[in-house]
Amino acid sequence: MISVKEKDLFVLINIDTDIINTSATRFDLSLLKDAIISQLNRVYNGPVGKYKLQLSIHVSILKKISQCSPQKILFQIVDTIPGNNPAEADFKGLRIKLNKYYVNDIISGKNIRTIPHEIGHLLGWDHPHAKASYESVNLTAHRLEQELTEDERKNNLMSQTWYAQKALVPMDKAVKLSEKQIELLLLHEISLNKNRHLNYFLWWKKIV
Ligand SMILES: [Zn+2]
Repeated sequence: MISVKEKDLFVLINIDTDIINTSATRFDLSLLKDAIISQLNRVYNGPVGKYKLQLSIHVSILKKISQCSPQKILFQIVDTIPGNNPAEADFKGLRIKLNKYYVNDIISGKNIRTIPHEIGHLLGWDHPHAKASYESVNLTAHRLEQELTEDERKNNLMSQTWYAQKALVPMDKAVKLSEKQIELLLLHEISLNKNRHLNYFLWWKKIV
């Protein structure tokens, strides 16, 4: 589950997650767990404009699908993802699928951006730029996200990798958030805290 609380500009995000590997390749899931925790802590702790973010994350490693909890966010390593993208967030299911071909990059720290970016989608954020169009605004994103400046888009966590690359921003620097995104998070606070998507159906029974 996700919970978001704000008090005196301190924004506390609480995320409870499981990891499962349903791919045909073996991975050391305890190393992946450590990488997920440190990569999320790096991005979701500290000041964002007038706000101060603080993250509390719990990660459990599962061995069997029957251990999946409808109350938790799931990181699921899979054999394939359309377009061979590193990951895919399933907003309704609150699941993040990880492409097995990228998992070792996440574990080694070569890729420290995918996990926080996908969690950003689960927190309700969209890409701030238009699809395949540089120096653009995503007109389907929320009004607050459309208000990001071009400079903010270039180093923003929620911009796609190609956008930051085109702007010549190193990947480890393209992890910034904007005050507008925190405002949007707080607008979504009540619906996020209901974790309604988790209650719709036992989606996790269908994961393989
Ligand atoms: Zn994305």
